Amino acid sequence: MKIVIVGGVAGGMSAATRLRRLREDAEIVVLERSGHVSFANCGLPYHVGGVIEDREDLLLQTPESLTARFALDVRVANEVVGIDPAAQTVEIRELATGRTYTEKYDELILSPGARPVRPPIPGIERALTLRDIEDTDRMIDALAHGVSTATIIGGGFIGLELTENLVKRGLKVTLIEATDQVMGPLDPEMVEPVQRRIRKHGVNLVLGRSVVEIGSDTVTLDDGTSVPADIVVASIGVRPESTLAVAAGLEVGAGGGIVVDDHMRTSVPHIFAVGDAVVKHDADDDSDVLVPLANTANRQGRLVADVIAGHRDADRPVRATAIVGVFGLMAATTGWNEKRLRRSGRPYRAIHTHPGSHAGYYPGAHTMSLKLLVDPDTDVILGAQGVGADGVDKRIDVIATAMAGGITASELAELELAYAPQFGSAKDPINMLGFIAENLREGLLCTVQWSELADVVAAGATVVDVRTPEEFAKGAIPGSVNFPIDELRERHSDLPAGPLVVTCAVGQRGNTATRLLAQLGHEVSNLDGGYRTWSDSPAARA
Ligand SMILES: Cc1cc2nc3c(=O)[nH]c(=O)nc-3n(C[C@H](O)[C@H](O)[C@H](O)COP(=O)(O)OP(=O)(O)OC[C@H]3O[C@@H](n4cnc5c(N)ncnc54)[C@H](O)[C@@H]3O)c2cc1C
Repeated sequence: MKIVIVGGVAGGMSAATRLRRLREDAEIVVLERSGHVSFANCGLPYHVGGVIEDREDLLLQTPESLTARFALDVRVANEVVGIDPAAQTVEIRELATGRTYTEKYDELILSPGARPVRPPIPGIERALTLRDIEDTDRMIDALAHGVSTATIIGGGFIGLELTENLVKRGLKVTLIEATDQVMGPLDPEMVEPVQRRIRKHGVNLVLGRSVVEIGSDTVTLDDGTSVPADIVVASIGVRPESTLAVAAGLEVGAGGGIVVDDHMRTSVPHIFAVGDAVVKHDADDDSDVLVPLANTANRQGRLVADVIAGHRDADRPVRATAIVGVFGLMAATTGWNEKRLRRSGRPYRAIHTHPGSHAGYYPGAHTMSLKLLVDPDTDVILGAQGVGADGVDKRIDVIATAMAGGITASELAELELAYAPQFGSAKDPINMLGFIAENLREGLLCTVQWSELADVVAAGATVVDVRTPEEFAKGAIPGSVNFPIDELRERHSDLPAGPLVVTCAVGQRGNTATRLLAQLGHEVSNLDGGYRTWSDSPAARA
């Protein structure tokens, strides 16, 4: 059996090495357009910033090492320029010589990845992109020539990572994002700490503005202002690299992604496709989605090898679980966000908490922001987000695992998680989310979201802040009244008449106060996530 693979990085090389482990007798040819295979694309921004000092560390394997260990026929600088599905051949251009030749296949695997979007802005040819080792070399070379300012277009994952790394290199960085926030998968109240951190590090963060022209050392925005830009980086997103597939008559779907079944088969016999180039299925509603992430590409590469070798596993749908580091903060997401739930008109319940990364009495704990989205009818977890300096990664991973395993929001309360004071809390933040979910489901607790507060107040509710007077004096929700929690039992009859919304720093004292006041006969709800969530939300800036 002869298997030809197009693309020799995440998906392609996972497929090649797994195939070899399953089929010693197969002939496996890997064709890669760039000069390198099996390189660490996710590490590229950190080499630009000098965190990964040695370029060689990015090159996980070489054609020679892959031939030695896996008997793969790996050909770099060999671009596949055509597929003839009837003849089961690919046409290849050897980039060094320009020679073209044909290779026959029994099975063809496409893992060509995605290509950076380059919008038709005047001057876009000056913009650098970051996708492979050659791009990295170009960027490092550009930085070596007296560069002091950089403008990055696009506040997605790669834009954020490059922002941090160019600041590390001493550049004055402007980050321009056309929407009103960076990192689209986060909801607005969750992204604010990230944006604050970016600004704190001296970055000129420009939101809600588009680039209309790239000049020789400036970039012009749609409001007529211009920002300095010795170098310009376009990190506006990626599109599936499906040109080859389209030309060969393969079916493409959402955003130009190659359509595959759950065994990675395309619409054309003997041609499979994996990774960033293919359309995936959302784990929640089975809709078509593009999720250009390394975990999925690697898993699908392994799976396609299994399928070709005769195993019958099926691809799993995706939740787009992802994390990015931004100047010492982690921001992570899994599943649906609130924006998407709202757009789709689905009912949901949101829970915000701000727990410590580990026990508060043990030095070095950091407060994080966690958000859980839950189906109010079934208690199914729909999504989660986390932002903080420490411990966010493991909480989002636990929630992603819970979602995959069908564990409901209330059942998070029962999870038995590893604990010692330097690593967590006896009631881990995950358990706390479960407690709140359980309280809400059972009607023990009623919450108001930051986005609902203005309407609730307009309808006659009073916001009661139960923090200490000292905390209250440092900043409070306009119009709120201060009744410290420890005085509530005695003073509750002094509270204004009508419905009450209790708030505190993060929602925890508010929960206790809400329970107390409810049992004393008040109509009361708790402001979810307390002052911290509210002050990070657009409501605080309105
Ligand atoms: C800078 C950067 C940082 C990233 N960081 C993260 C991260 O932290 N976490 C995460 O989950 N994901 C991250 N990603 C995304 C992740 O790298 C991709 O999801 C993953 O590599 C996709 O695997 P793939 O096999 O589909 O494509 P790729 O790994 O991109 O491989 C595709 C290869 O195919 C080659 N190719 C394309 N067309 C042809 C052709 N016609 N002939 C021959 N070869 C061809 C390309 O040259 C390319 O090398 C990052 C990506 C980049 C660029």
